Amino acid sequence: MPSVQSVLVVGAGAAGTAAAILLAEAGVSVDLIDVKPDVGAVGSGITLQGNALRVFRQLGVWPEVEAAGYSFDSLGLRAPDPAGTLVAEIPDARTGGPDLPATVGMYRPELARILVTRAADVGAKVRFGTSCTGFAQDDDGVTASFEDGTSARYDLVIGADGVHSATRQQLGIELETRSTGMGIWRVFAPRPASVTRTDLVYGGRCYIAGYCPTGEDTLYAYLVETAQDRSGLSPQESLDVMRDLAASYHGPWDDIRESLVDPERVNYTWFETHVLEAPWNRGRIVLIGDAVHACPPTLAQGAAQALEDAAVLSELLLSHEHVTDQLWEELIERRYDRARSVVEASNQLGQWLLDGEQGDVPALMGRMAQMLSQPA
Ligand SMILES: Cc1cc2nc3c(=O)[nH]c(=O)nc-3n(C[C@H](O)[C@H](O)[C@H](O)COP(=O)(O)OP(=O)(O)OC[C@H]3O[C@@H](n4cnc5c(N)ncnc54)[C@H](O)[C@@H]3O)c2cc1C
Repeated sequence: MPSVQSVLVVGAGAAGTAAAILLAEAGVSVDLIDVKPDVGAVGSGITLQGNALRVFRQLGVWPEVEAAGYSFDSLGLRAPDPAGTLVAEIPDARTGGPDLPATVGMYRPELARILVTRAADVGAKVRFGTSCTGFAQDDDGVTASFEDGTSARYDLVIGADGVHSATRQQLGIELETRSTGMGIWRVFAPRPASVTRTDLVYGGRCYIAGYCPTGEDTLYAYLVETAQDRSGLSPQESLDVMRDLAASYHGPWDDIRESLVDPERVNYTWFETHVLEAPWNRGRIVLIGDAVHACPPTLAQGAAQALEDAAVLSELLLSHEHVTDQLWEELIERRYDRARSVVEASNQLGQWLLDGEQGDVPALMGRMAQMLSQPA
């Protein structure tokens, strides 16, 4: 008998849906709630590395992810010159194993739809547009109160509600989330035929100008600048800023820039980071994903780490007979150092750019690829 029979998962992002799928599939009664009104909220693209794909296979969604996304095995580096010269083509490590591509680009709302549909198919009860107002727990379980005035009792609560986790705050856990000093413009746009993998340009008017194919017809493109207050800009002004910054990049960027016409597709956000010291649980409430470790997407590992948390936590909950301190210690043993290393490496890559320093990027990437090739 597994250690839990009923679980509430707060947050239907990568971490929450993955935990819900694995637990519900094993016969645990799972309620999965999200404060968003529905699954198909607006979004841009996401880059998923092999170690994320390995978890998708475990969740039973890899065939759908593969069909909906765009797979590739190398990274291009281009110069910020008038030709957008390709200066290097680097084979990407297949961190999920030799039978999975190194990388898949995807449209975020499509990935969310696949994960939430799978969670519901394996028996999780999914509710959008709701959140918890508080918890009361004892040695045997947790009573969660919901916004609509109802409450329910669970063996365990998983707080997977993202970087500004309300669950974390309700537990009274103090954690400083800081800006790394960079802001990113992102846009979802048509894919020119010349874009068949991620290409990055370091330098020019931005720290990084990049794009990633997300399907046969689509890509997302991004420009990373010094973090600044862009909140006063209208959608049209945001589009104008992005087009202006993009004007200094060429090669495939020339086609991408011409396709930037829909102001509603442009998004701006800052990079944020934190790592919560162990433990990640308070009694029978445990936090996973961005709620405990957040990093800038310089390694494109945030979602992958969130998925790995969910896979390891579910494995432990299903293989242990009781929720004990030993279970929580095993979670930290398998997850803390790995997630912290990813956050530190992601921050380091950004800091080198901010400082204009030539860090040893290949060595750092090599170290990370080696670590992430080992299952979590
Ligand atoms: C600009 C940017 C680009 C990124 N690009 C990549 C990338 O290419 N590849 C990659 O691997 N990672 C990327 N990341 C990181 C990645 O998005 C996160 O690491 C990942 O989404 C974390 O998953 P999560 O499930 O922990 O949290 P989230 O995806 O944030 O999900 C949390 C969920 O909780 C819900 N929620 C919030 N509050 C409540 C509440 N009170 N009650 C109920 N529900 C609530 C939210 O609606 C949300 O659905 C990027 C991050 C940023 C900022």
